[in-house]
Amino acid sequence: MKERLLKYLACPVCHASLSLAGDLQREGQEIMAGRLECNGCQTSYPIDHGVPHFADLDEVGEEKAATAAGFGWEWKKFTQHDEKYREQFLGWLKPVSPEFFKDKVVLDGGCGKGRHLKLAAEWGARDVVGVDLSEAVETAFAATRSAENIHVVQADICRLPLAPEFDYAFSMGVLDHLADPLEGFRSLASKVKRGGHVSAWVYGAENNGWITGLITPLRERFTSRLNPRTLFHLCKLPAALLFMVTKLIFGPLSKLGNGKAAHRLFYGEYLTSLVPFGWREHHVIVFDHLVAPTVHYLTREEFEKWWSGIEAREVKIGWHNKNSWRGFGQIRTNVQV
Ligand SMILES: [Zn+2]
Repeated sequence: MKERLLKYLACPVCHASLSLAGDLQREGQEIMAGRLECNGCQTSYPIDHGVPHFADLDEVGEEKAATAAGFGWEWKKFTQHDEKYREQFLGWLKPVSPEFFKDKVVLDGGCGKGRHLKLAAEWGARDVVGVDLSEAVETAFAATRSAENIHVVQADICRLPLAPEFDYAFSMGVLDHLADPLEGFRSLASKVKRGGHVSAWVYGAENNGWITGLITPLRERFTSRLNPRTLFHLCKLPAALLFMVTKLIFGPLSKLGNGKAAHRLFYGEYLTSLVPFGWREHHVIVFDHLVAPTVHYLTREEFEKWWSGIEAREVKIGWHNKNSWRGFGQIRTNVQV
């Protein structure tokens, strides 16, 4: 961790500030090992391989630990970078544009391998803090350590070790994997200053009946219980089918009449969005849909209630690729958790 991360940290137990302690090992701007100690309750948190750790996976509960194990494996395996992440991220963030990030202190709730941390920093954020519960923090740290304004923290999104000092917080495709997605959303929003903004993107219930009817029982009873390595190999066949469908059908169709023909087909907008991606992204998309023990598909009404619940203003809810919801709003009063 970089020393300048300290000003954004707060004890997840008592919310007091933290100080560096113990035998600190430094490598350039990074503190690779040592401890953080709470100035209030004196709880100690280890810094390991450059990342401060606030959540013990043995204590977060079986479901969260299993979710972290699956996604942690995923992001240690699929470390590739893709130029198309930029457009994809902006699609999830809309109406937010790259200029919006300029000079802001930004929080990514569930940063995975850190692909959005890099984009936020590239777009001019003053500091970006990525939080993830899983071992993916190792991948995120390795991918971002050269940037002086990117920070990676291992923690539970529902017990964030952060001060309410953020101008903007976002969470992309993460809250829907929590046992209580609303708890995670409120926790994220509670770290944003009054007048700051929040973005969230989650799976929709609408139009996803075929997933909840067919894929969910398979995922819950079988695929999420497999060893991730076995699931990785098992996903190759459905990923190959998906790859052929997007490349051979949606690729050519998307070039006809502004893509209208492709959009009229089953799941057309989503499948068209996959056309620019290569094999490895198709493989990780299938894996991602089958690995998690918990997935919530939210209706528009449920998602809208999240935003009214935090009393956000100027809320903009959008239907993305006809299978997911994105939301953006401004924090009017401090959110209590
Ligand atoms: Zn404390």
